[in-house]
Amino acid sequence: MIYSTQYSIASVAATLVLIAMCFLKQNYATKQNKIFRIMVFVNLVVSGTNVGSLYTISHPHDYPLALSCALNMIYMFSFSMMAVLFLLYIDSISKIGKYKIAIEMVTSSISIVLAIIIFTSQQTRLVLYFDNDLQYQRGPYMRLLYIIAAALIIIADVMFMYSSRRFSGYQVFSVNCFIVLAYGSIIFQKYYPRYAISALALSLMMMFLYSAFENPAYYLYKDTRCFNRRAFLATIKKHRKKNIPYVAIAIKIINYDFMRHDLGQSKTENLILRVAEHLNNCYRRKVFNLNDDCFVLILEADTDVKEQRVRLKKLFEEPFEIGDRENSIKLPVSIMLSVIPVENPNIDEKEMETVVHSVQRDEKELATGEDIQDVVDKLHRQEKLATIIDNAIENNGFEVYYQPILDVATGTYPSAEALIRLKDSELGFISPEEFIPIAEKNGRVIEIGDMVFARVCDFISRSRGMNLGVDYIEVNLSPVQCYHEELARKFLRELGKYDLDPSSVNLEITETAELETRKVKILQRNLDNMNERGVTFSIDDFGSGFAAIDYLLRLPVTIVKIDKNILWQAMKDSKAMKVLTGTMRMLKEIGKHIVVEGVETEEMAAILRENGCDYMQGYLYSKPVPESQYVEFLKMNNVA
Ligand code: C2E
Ligand code: CA
Ligand code: CA
Repeated sequence: MIYSTQYSIASVAATLVLIAMCFLKQNYATKQNKIFRIMVFVNLVVSGTNVGSLYTISHPHDYPLALSCALNMIYMFSFSMMAVLFLLYIDSISKIGKYKIAIEMVTSSISIVLAIIIFTSQQTRLVLYFDNDLQYQRGPYMRLLYIIAAALIIIADVMFMYSSRRFSGYQVFSVNCFIVLAYGSIIFQKYYPRYAISALALSLMMMFLYSAFENPAYYLYKDTRCFNRRAFLATIKKHRKKNIPYVAIAIKIINYDFMRHDLGQSKTENLILRVAEHLNNCYRRKVFNLNDDCFVLILEADTDVKEQRVRLKKLFEEPFEIGDRENSIKLPVSIMLSVIPVENPNIDEKEMETVVHSVQRDEKELATGEDIQDVVDKLHRQEKLATIIDNAIENNGFEVYYQPILDVATGTYPSAEALIRLKDSELGFISPEEFIPIAEKNGRVIEIGDMVFARVCDFISRSRGMNLGVDYIEVNLSPVQCYHEELARKFLRELGKYDLDPSSVNLEITETAELETRKVKILQRNLDNMNERGVTFSIDDFGSGFAAIDYLLRLPVTIVKIDKNILWQAMKDSKAMKVLTGTMRMLKEIGKHIVVEGVETEEMAAILRENGCDYMQGYLYSKPVPESQYVEFLKMNNVA
């Protein structure tokens, strides 16, 4: 049979183009990347030997048998290896990790078996051989090769789909194209063996993978032409793996938010592009754009940092010009430079990213090794705390303490604030000020809040029988809970479960800085729904935030809790005292009840009493205590 070679020749050409694309453009030596490069080379071997093997099969008498065998066997082997490599490649991009050793063992043993059965098959006649008439023949194990390849591709596909959430639609599409093309070409070849398209299909498959995963655009911001965050992470990883020290210089555009506010999005974007262009011209291939207002340069460890600072400052001295010639404007860009020398490059990429953000937040011009270590330690502590929180949720490890609140008019304690406590066998007592923000970030604060609320309901229902004089308990709500669609329904159901009057709880909400309209709507709906049924609300930490007045006017709050720092400040400073007393007067005038927290001395209590404070909470009366102690406290103070 005469086979057509033009498809294989096209495949050689396509692979050469791919090689040029891979090697001419900047790239990273990640594991994924290395495997891809090996795949491209093997692909070249596949297409090259495919051309040769097709010639030798078509004209067997024109070539020595050894050459025909070698070409065909190398073709068959390298073709099978592509499936092995594909599995390794998918393993490296899907980063499941769990099956690493299993995959390495399977792929290496399969490779050895394939090599043995293919390269001995002229003698064994198992896979392919030339018979006595020098005609090309397929052996009984040829089918096995296809089955192995198909199985490897299926495993790869399952692994990829398992982690497919991490990938873009196009990436998922490309991997699926790879698989469809693989099966399609094998089936096509079976029915039309004359048209040897499988090498070409393979090149096409590689093109898909390249465009989806290896294209340098994957590492570049289209607009700024700077490396993106992914590239930043990959670069830090590379330094760590190769143990190369470096210096990172973080450049933050200080007036970014103002610019966006004043100039609008599109002008600001243009300005950032100009900044990126300038940086790129000065520091080719070293500029990383972490986010809109933050660039990072990764430079060699022996860089003269002082010189670079001068150079960068100079770069930003002149205003940047945006717009076209007739319509251009000049805008100054002010920056904050932080130099981060990393002498000990075992810091990992995510840690380094946090270091960059943290030195910028603290406006540090030079980060020392200690600063870096601090950030890393903090990050590790946070990770540890996240696990402790997870465990506490699972094993009921939280406790709820109560801090009594004094009613000034009656001298009794009709309410208390429920405060959560977490104790770890290793880290000891962990303050809610530390763990609540972590739980807010990873969303678990919802479960924690539900748990606290359920415990409080349970306590109130039990305390009713004891006649302890508890009218209501104050429960803290995290903003994350307030913005949760289900909040009102869940809490009302819980109250119903214990057959409690909704007025037996008061929910404390804290103001947050950003008030997104959509979120505020949910918050308002949640609060209104509960308020209609009799749940009351207070604003916590009044005076310490931003949106206090807005909250006061828009939300159904009956109680305002003045932040303890305001009180403490007032005790030290007469102006602050005026703010405190003035605030209290204003709140009275609009008909709110006032709680002041952090009351530690009789002197504080006297001043507050004079100014019409309704409720007081603080160490002067009681620290937050466990339920049993709280009950004792109530028996002593509330029950006549
Ligand atoms: P917060 O809501 O402002 O709670 C009052 C904090 O002030 C409590 O700290 C309390 O122990 C403390 N405090 C009260 N009186 C005094 C005093 O006289 N002197 C001093 N020095 N401190 C006093 P705690 O229990 O450490 O709670 C800290 C924060 O953690 C709370 O601040 C609240 O924002 C949050 N938190 C506590 N429990 C929960 C909860 O169940 N859910 C949510 N979302 N947050 C909670
Ligand atoms: Ca509170
Ligand atoms: Ca407070």
